[in-house]
Amino acid sequence: MVEIVLTAPATEMSNHHGKEFLGFGTCSPPTVIPSWFIKTFFYPKVKCKNGEVTQAPYGLRKIESLLIDAGFDVVTVHPYDIEKHLDEAKVVGISVMDPLGFGPVSVTFSAILGGDPSTHIEFINLMKKIEPYRKRVKVIVGGAGAWQFEWNEYWKSKVDCIIIGEGEYVVVVDVFRKALRGEELPKVVKGKPAKVEDIPTIKKPSINGLVEISRGCGRGCRFCSETLKMKRDIPIEKVVEEAKVCVRETKGVILHAEDVLLYGCKDPKFVPNEEEVLKLFRAVKSVSEYVSVSHCSLAAVVAKPSLVEGINEIVGMGERISMFGVQTGLETGSPRLMEKHMHGKCLPFHPNEWCDVVESAFSIMHENRWIPAATLIIGLPDEREDDVIKTIELVERLREYCSLIVPLIFIPMEVCALRRERLFTRENFRDYHYELMAVCMDHNIYWIDRIFKEYFKGYKNFLIKLGYWAFSRWIKKNWEKRRKELKITIKNMIGG
Ligand code: SF4
Repeated sequence: MVEIVLTAPATEMSNHHGKEFLGFGTCSPPTVIPSWFIKTFFYPKVKCKNGEVTQAPYGLRKIESLLIDAGFDVVTVHPYDIEKHLDEAKVVGISVMDPLGFGPVSVTFSAILGGDPSTHIEFINLMKKIEPYRKRVKVIVGGAGAWQFEWNEYWKSKVDCIIIGEGEYVVVVDVFRKALRGEELPKVVKGKPAKVEDIPTIKKPSINGLVEISRGCGRGCRFCSETLKMKRDIPIEKVVEEAKVCVRETKGVILHAEDVLLYGCKDPKFVPNEEEVLKLFRAVKSVSEYVSVSHCSLAAVVAKPSLVEGINEIVGMGERISMFGVQTGLETGSPRLMEKHMHGKCLPFHPNEWCDVVESAFSIMHENRWIPAATLIIGLPDEREDDVIKTIELVERLREYCSLIVPLIFIPMEVCALRRERLFTRENFRDYHYELMAVCMDHNIYWIDRIFKEYFKGYKNFLIKLGYWAFSRWIKKNWEKRRKELKITIKNMIGG
């Protein structure tokens, strides 16, 4: 009898067709884009064997590992199958990224398209399934989006315990043990940063082979949830061990850190430690044919362009791999806002050099087939018209570099240093904000065909590829035909 069931909303229990980037699509509300399309193309159900998922969100795999090491029997299942396990279960642990739709991507998509993001809809669907068993089953939530419960009393009351922060520091095992004994649980538990030696290795594959190489960041941007965590690097042996676990089920490995290029970096000016990073890549490459990266900072690219080239050589860029899609933060074109809210993000450069750093990084990445998916922030505290105009000018400078640029609305998350600041709402939108959104969209439309071609090169599932191709055509045609109207539409939706 398995008393602990682990799961996550269906939007997270998917490998997004093996294309991690497509996970962003799960933040779309089913309004303009129909629900069936979002489900089919952005979060198909992950494969299951003997009732268990074959891949699960990385954070959930860590929790699973902690509980197994502590001697508990655990089963990790897809939310659509959870009812089969609830007759016997005493505790359900749910990993959440964006359960209530307060994440920056969801808020932005919902502001433009109207409606609830799919992430929130799938969380509600999951809770509905558990509801009939709630007298007997305790519900514990945790993960990167757990802070969102602090903003909604209704949903806070619907769960037994919310774990915010890292789970390794005794927290998780204690809470689950108490839950199994039927004891009353504290409503909110705040986990402290774990020591590297207390972080367990995962025992089963994560979604798309994601493996954490560093935790925390250290640059200290005041709008970011990583601000409050210190940076720790996971030893190479542990990374390789996890990579081996993943490739049993996934095509390759995605090395994850807030900045992959800063692995092993101890320099206070954040100049990458080239030797350490290349050593890591070589080690992972020895166990996985395909190695890619999740995030990097633009400043690190410019500080060590040779590192980008060195990584490309190891992974076989242009041969085995056609491109890297890398998430990064462009944030703003305003040196004043850089200085005020994210001074450390520019290091080893100065905030006054930020626009040049961004352009140089885009240029280096373009030449090396690294395609940035760069986010910028609309509505940072104390933002002025002049700051937004500088950002528009910067985006225009980047036109010749293959990339996606995604504007996101500032959210004062509970876990960041700006949490006491005001929420940027529709009333705060001005004409120059719409102009910024339109300029970003122009940029993305300009590159959409090339990105589609590179991203799906060698992709075998013809129907899915065709669906995405049709989708990209639809976006492009609509934007080209109705740019002016769409700008008014965005304005009406956000302003109305
Ligand atoms: S560099 Fe990125 S991860 Fe690090 S604090 Fe800034 S926004 Fe957060």
